Amino acid sequence: MAKYICTICGCVYDTETGLENGLYAGVAFDDLPENFLCPICSEPKEYFEELSAYNSKEENK
Ligand SMILES: [Zn+2]
Repeated sequence: MAKYICTICGCVYDTETGLENGLYAGVAFDDLPENFLCPICSEPKEYFEELSAYNSKEENK
């Protein structure tokens, strides 16, 4: 399981637990529907990045 961060608002999506209401729990990020939206800022999934990749990018700044 992996975590993804919304690069717009910084909220973290955990594929293990899904959204706060349990929706999409256990669903791989790639398997999320194309109409998935960030629960906080409503941006589409293309604005999400894998958290580990995002963190390593931040460290290199
Ligand atoms: Zn967001």
